[in-house]
Amino acid sequence: MQGIDEIKTLLSEPRKVLVTMHRKPDGDALGSALALYFYLMAKGHDPIVVSPTDYGVYLHWMPGNPSVLIWEENKKGIQKYIDQAELIFCLDFNNLGRIEDMGESIRLSPAKKIMIDHHLEPEGFEDYRLWNPEACATAELVYKFIGLLGDEAIIDKNMAICLYTGIMTDSGSFQYSNVSPQVHLITAHLMSTGMDHTMIHRNIYDTMKESQLRFFGHCIKEKLVILPKFRAAYISVNKEELRQYNILTGDTEGLVNYTMSLSETVVGALIVERDKVVKLSLRSKGNFPVNEIAKKYFHGGGHINAAGGTSYENLQQTIAKFEEAVKEFEILLLNN
Ligand code: 5GP
Ligand code: MN
Repeated sequence: MQGIDEIKTLLSEPRKVLVTMHRKPDGDALGSALALYFYLMAKGHDPIVVSPTDYGVYLHWMPGNPSVLIWEENKKGIQKYIDQAELIFCLDFNNLGRIEDMGESIRLSPAKKIMIDHHLEPEGFEDYRLWNPEACATAELVYKFIGLLGDEAIIDKNMAICLYTGIMTDSGSFQYSNVSPQVHLITAHLMSTGMDHTMIHRNIYDTMKESQLRFFGHCIKEKLVILPKFRAAYISVNKEELRQYNILTGDTEGLVNYTMSLSETVVGALIVERDKVVKLSLRSKGNFPVNEIAKKYFHGGGHINAAGGTSYENLQQTIAKFEEAVKEFEILLLNN
């Protein structure tokens, strides 16, 4: 990593550090941030974790969660931390546009910015980067970063829980192609701290409310559309359905995977009508680049097999656009 010696020097005395991650953080974004938070505290720094927005209750069990501040809820108070910070870590995103208006505050801050991330096409706002789009999770890179600072040995149970959560959630429980032997070696080390991985799986995956599970059932039975010719499947959800089943932020997590569980499906989507916009979660198998659909049609991006975006058209128009996109990319289905 370029500049690692300068970072070592910067961290050689106690610093005020702000750690942030992308909006609506997932297990990798929050896990990476909280692992770094525990690491920085162990090294005698004064860290603070700020999320641009709130996040799913399925992550509230994580160690360190009570100390996370939410930018949306207290911009003035958090601006003070941004002004005072000497170092700002930006985790699991590489474009300041992904963190609401906090992005501009961070851009203007004189603090040194360190980006640790695995998404494509970094904007380049940072002073230092540990960036690898082949990493299965940002948490894998945070582990590597701690190692580069010579501190692998101080990774304790709390840090391990957070890093394991990041790796597990972003790798689909170790199933995606970017899970390398190295990832399993990292995981072995994390497990050796005495953390309970079964507890993490239970906390993340076995926490549904009854209404949420029935909502999933409704979506699969009534809303799943399959386009066999294009090896595509999608589920669309409107505001009324979200209200009827009391579906909150994060409650749709995992639903898109059902479109991929069909043996013939190569590309899948979850299309959700939110308050003012329509959000899309896109998934694919093999080398079908679903991030290109996200980028070209839905102002988004992501990884080759998992991407997302936003549509400013209505739900029906968005669905039509998704179908159009799948047709345009049909040729790419041939090798999958
Ligand atoms: P999810 O479907 O789980 O919300 O997102 C899957 C992946 O797609 C994320 O890890 C992220 O890389 C990417 N992604 C989701 N939404 C957006 C978006 O609005 N913009 C960009 N650039 N990427 C997104
Ligand atoms: Mn990630």
